[in-house]
Amino acid sequence: MKRFVEGTDRQQSTLFPAVLDEYVGEDNPVRAIDVFVDGLDLAKLGFGGVAPLATGRPAYHPASLLKIYIYGYFNRVQSSRRLERETTADFRKDNGEAIRKVCRAFVLLCRRLGLFGDASVAIDGSKFKAVNNRDKNFTEAKMKRRLEQIDESIARYLSQLDTADHQGPTVPEAKTTRLKEKIAKLREEIGRLNALNARMMASEDKQISLSDPDARSMATSGKGSGIVGYNVQSAVDTTHHLIVAHEVTNVGTDRSQLSNMAEQARAEIGAETLDVVADRGYYDGQEILACETIGITVTLPKPMTSSAKAAGRFGKQDFIYVAADDIYRCPAGEALTYRYTNEEDGKTLRRYWTTACQTCALKAQCTPGKERRISRWEHEAVLETVQDRLDRNPEKMRVRRQTVEHPFGTIKAWMGATHFQMRRLPKVASEMALHVLAYNMKRVMQILGVGGLMAAMLA
Ligand code: SF4
Repeated sequence: MKRFVEGTDRQQSTLFPAVLDEYVGEDNPVRAIDVFVDGLDLAKLGFGGVAPLATGRPAYHPASLLKIYIYGYFNRVQSSRRLERETTADFRKDNGEAIRKVCRAFVLLCRRLGLFGDASVAIDGSKFKAVNNRDKNFTEAKMKRRLEQIDESIARYLSQLDTADHQGPTVPEAKTTRLKEKIAKLREEIGRLNALNARMMASEDKQISLSDPDARSMATSGKGSGIVGYNVQSAVDTTHHLIVAHEVTNVGTDRSQLSNMAEQARAEIGAETLDVVADRGYYDGQEILACETIGITVTLPKPMTSSAKAAGRFGKQDFIYVAADDIYRCPAGEALTYRYTNEEDGKTLRRYWTTACQTCALKAQCTPGKERRISRWEHEAVLETVQDRLDRNPEKMRVRRQTVEHPFGTIKAWMGATHFQMRRLPKVASEMALHVLAYNMKRVMQILGVGGLMAAMLA
């Protein structure tokens, strides 16, 4: 038969390589994974089963299991069921802490290889979906909405029953029975929701997730596209896009994470100083101050939350602080002088104003009150330095975006639609550590080549 792909003759003898190792190419990533795991002190990292048990069926050595898991994550086979065909089911569950340390060991290797030379990171948070769909998570607002919907449905069915009553025997009995059943079901659901509501209200943040109790309802950047999951914080080096530090949290906002992540990144990099760039979601005076006082320089934009600006009046940014005279210069050129100090939300604030407002031609654009008052936090100079740094280096925001998009985009593509496979924060954290390890390994293999990485590890 001409012009067809032809199968191989089954009687044909073949020459397979004599040694298994010959099947694996010199530049196969599995070789680098092998060298990396063989170089780890697994007992010191806390893995169980390093010493064989005296009795019972011989077990797999944790090194073999760890290699299979890393290889699995490397090749997007993170589902434990698929990995279980080759390994034991509980390895990932039982060695969570040790797996997280392995991820760290690779970061330390990157540091030894000089890959973090620039001591510059972008910090970002990304929301990852948990094993918990939106219907199994309740917040006060969701619960209220659900109960209201049920009330509306019951009212609708009751009114249909009323109509049926008026119409008398012309209405088939099956219809009224069906309506009564529906109402009974909904009342049952109200009972279930009320019990859940009591549990929810007793919880610290008035929220309850049924499948994964640690997962939380969180807003994402897309409008109306909240998820139930975790907020993974990461510090990514701006040169090679390696993940220097990461932490799985179930807090929906990034505002309290800046100094925590920056300090972790600095410790991993082992540098005295560190440049950090982040988005406006991290803007918090106390967090910025905490970084700057320990030599971590941050660059991030201030969120535009001025109510005056929103109402079409001058914002605080239109008032220039003159440090030498300790005054603010307003858009009309008047000097707002210091008047008194007070405390608000734990912050010491200095208040400034002028008596010239009453006769000012710009007053309508400035304040609806008697005079315009400006507040100055006692550490405002730190925030002004940060703003000045951003004004001088606006390209840093582009660098930030390019740096953080890469790892999160890659890892989410690997993870598929439901991001995590396991439940509860500590287990989810181990899962994330395996993803981060696989991501970092892939990156370093791209930078140094598989051979280069192996040579560096063996050096
Ligand atoms: S209203 Fe007062 S603060 Fe505002 S521009 Fe006029 S003088 Fe300056």
